[in-house]
Amino acid sequence: MRKTEINKIPGRVWVFGDYREYFQNRITLQLIAKARDLAETLNTGITVVLLGEQIHQYAMEYVAHGADTVMVADHSNLKEYEVETYTTVLAKWAKEYQPEIFLAGATSFGREFFPRLAKRLSTGLSADCVDLEVDPETSLLVQTTPSFGGELLAEVITPDRRPQMATVHPGIFREFPHNSEAIGRIIYPEVDVFSEPRVKVTRSRPQSKGKVSLEDASVVIAGGMGLGSKGQFELLNELAAILEGEVGATRPAILAGWADEDRLLGQTGKSVKAKLVISIGTSGALQYTTGIQGAETVIAINRDPNAPIFRIADLGLVADGKTVLPLLLETLRRRI
Ligand SMILES: Cc1cc2nc3c(=O)[nH]c(=O)nc-3n(C[C@H](O)[C@H](O)[C@H](O)COP(=O)(O)OP(=O)(O)OC[C@H]3O[C@@H](n4cnc5c(N)ncnc54)[C@H](O)[C@@H]3O)c2cc1C
Repeated sequence: MRKTEINKIPGRVWVFGDYREYFQNRITLQLIAKARDLAETLNTGITVVLLGEQIHQYAMEYVAHGADTVMVADHSNLKEYEVETYTTVLAKWAKEYQPEIFLAGATSFGREFFPRLAKRLSTGLSADCVDLEVDPETSLLVQTTPSFGGELLAEVITPDRRPQMATVHPGIFREFPHNSEAIGRIIYPEVDVFSEPRVKVTRSRPQSKGKVSLEDASVVIAGGMGLGSKGQFELLNELAAILEGEVGATRPAILAGWADEDRLLGQTGKSVKAKLVISIGTSGALQYTTGIQGAETVIAINRDPNAPIFRIADLGLVADGKTVLPLLLETLRRRI
């Protein structure tokens, strides 16, 4: 397709297509759903940029989940992610087609190459955003990100430079359902930047996880320091088993050795999109609630009626978790 034709495509909100572990890693689909809001306010469309080899099926998936256009660089040199080559191709495309907004997931992957890309494009980047909106008056992207160690939520704008770039925490936005009738364009612009990379990646593969992914669980039972001891915390495993869910934990509970690191919820851990989260003995610090705000329903149990967790909970119970938990288990056991 010629550049003039591509320029006719109104997709000025760009999303980086991260298709690794596609069925578990939903960040690109979550970003497409958020990009829809942004694009509508800006009266434009969404373009997903996709790099790899033989990746047409992912392009089709992104269209089915709401992308208007998917721009694909399909080349054997792009088969494995390599930071220099990816940055070079994306910088070239961004300079040529000038997106207004460019988003990527705040995964270890996005955190590595997106800052490099922002530097190449001489623009700003907000890392680990938890919300994004377009200000209807200024048409600027307002990028909400935790700052000062998570004590404050900062709203960042990029008034002059383009694109406005942000990485976004996984699990915050909800993806659109798959629509096989959706219509979008898949285009293959020329890619001619293939200098021999200094690092050649021969193969990459995901680390094996062992347990069921917390991010995919439909019920999450989360515990914090209010549970008081490892013994009490272990009751959460029983509750999770009865409700067919997974256990999550706050940072201090993990530091206390009550749960493994892979159970961490929050800004520095995982974000869940469960139907139900039951959060027991957690104060509701912002760094923690970032991880559960994507849940459909949050039930909080805390003995302090002023605990911040009640501000985000759909249902709150002011009670001693150490008393409620055994009672709840006993009631549920009788029903099995
Ligand atoms: C840069 C940075 C990043 C961070 N990232 C994360 C993160 O990713 N995830 C995370 O979780 N934290 C993170 N933190 C820590 C976070 O700020 C909070 O300190 C932490 O979430 C609090 O954990 P908690 O709720 O278990 O403990 P506490 O704050 O000690 O709260 C315990 C709560 O339990 C209640 N309670 C006490 N006894 C009972 C009882 N018997 N029954 C019921 N309720 C009871 C208390 O009223 C209190 O509200 C981060 C901090 C920083 C600075």
